[in-house]
Amino acid sequence: MKSIGVVNYAPEKGSVEIREVAKPEIGEEDVLLEVANVGVCGSDLHQWTADHSWPVNYPVVLGHEFGGHIVALGSRVKDWKEGDRVVSETAAVIDLNNPMSKQGLYNLDPTRKGFGYGVNGAMTRFVKVPARCLHKVPDNLPFEQACLTEPCSVAYNAVVVNSPIKPGDRVVVLGPGTIGILCAAMARLCGAEVAIIGLESDRGRLEIAKHYGCEGIIGDASAWVLKKDGLGADCIIDAAGASATLKIALELVRPNGHITKVGWGPQPLNFSLDPLVQKNVTLQGSFSHNWPIWEKVLSLLASGQLDVKPIIGGVWKLTEWREAFEQMHSGKVVKSVLRPE
Ligand SMILES: [Zn+2]
Repeated sequence: MKSIGVVNYAPEKGSVEIREVAKPEIGEEDVLLEVANVGVCGSDLHQWTADHSWPVNYPVVLGHEFGGHIVALGSRVKDWKEGDRVVSETAAVIDLNNPMSKQGLYNLDPTRKGFGYGVNGAMTRFVKVPARCLHKVPDNLPFEQACLTEPCSVAYNAVVVNSPIKPGDRVVVLGPGTIGILCAAMARLCGAEVAIIGLESDRGRLEIAKHYGCEGIIGDASAWVLKKDGLGADCIIDAAGASATLKIALELVRPNGHITKVGWGPQPLNFSLDPLVQKNVTLQGSFSHNWPIWEKVLSLLASGQLDVKPIIGGVWKLTEWREAFEQMHSGKVVKSVLRPE
C-alpha cells in the first residue's frame, strides 16, 4: 500500500516534491504510527532551500514534529497498544552503547540519525517509530498542539536545562521564529523579564510573541538591556538562523553573563570573540532534547502553562505543503502544521 509524502529528494535548492511512499515495515521494537499532524520546522525549510549544514540521506520524507495513533506494534513492544495517542521524539536511530546514550544524553550521540533527514520522517500517512521514542499525549491535548512538543522541547533544553535563568533576570531572545518565541515563553515561565528581538520584517511575529508576556523589539535592544543597571542582559538566547547574531549577543550580554546558542547558521563568523573573554561570558550550545524534557513539556502543555495556540498559523493538507512552507519561510506565520489524509 502506498501513500503520498513530502519528499526531499536531492541536495539542490528546491528539491522537494510530493511522491508516493511505501508503507514502512516495522521491526520487533517499533510501532507503526498513523500521523495525525506534523509541524513544519525551520530545518525542513533549510533542507528545502538547501542552506542546511547536516548530512541528509536523500531521498527522505521530511518532518520530525509529529503525533498520531499507534496502528501496529512490533512483537517485543510492551506497554503500548493499538489506538494509543502518542508523540515521538526525533532520535530515530541511536547507538544504545554509545557513552552519551548510556548517560541518557542520546541526543548527543554523534551517530544519532533523526527523522526527516537521516530516516524517513512524518510528512506522510504512516511512519515507523522505535517504541523508546514514544510519549503518551494527555487526552485533553489536541494533536495540532501536541505535534509541537518537539520545538517546545528544544526551547526547554535551551532555556531551562542549558541556561542559568533565575526569576528577576533580564533575558534577550534573538530571532522571533518558532524556537525563539518558545524560548521567550520558557524564560517567562522561569520568572525572567524577556525581550525578543527581530527585524522590521518580523513585526507580525513579534506581535505574536507578546502573547507570552514579553517585549517585542525591532532592531537595537541596547536601551532595554541597559535599563536596569546599565550592564546588559543576564542571558541571551540566540535563536536566529544566522551566525552574525552572535556579535549582537556579545554586545548585549552583561559581564559574567551567559549566551546560549540554539539557532543554526552555517556561515563562518567574521568578528573577534574578544568581548567573550573580556566580559567573562559563558557561551553554551544547545541541541535537541531527551526523554525527561519531553515529559516536562507535555505536562506544561496539558496544564495550559504553555500554550502553543498563538504560534500556529494554519493547518494545511500534505498536497498544500508548498503553501505551508512559503507562509512560514516568509515569516507570515510562525508555525505551519500539516495534516495527512
Ligand atoms: Zn524541529
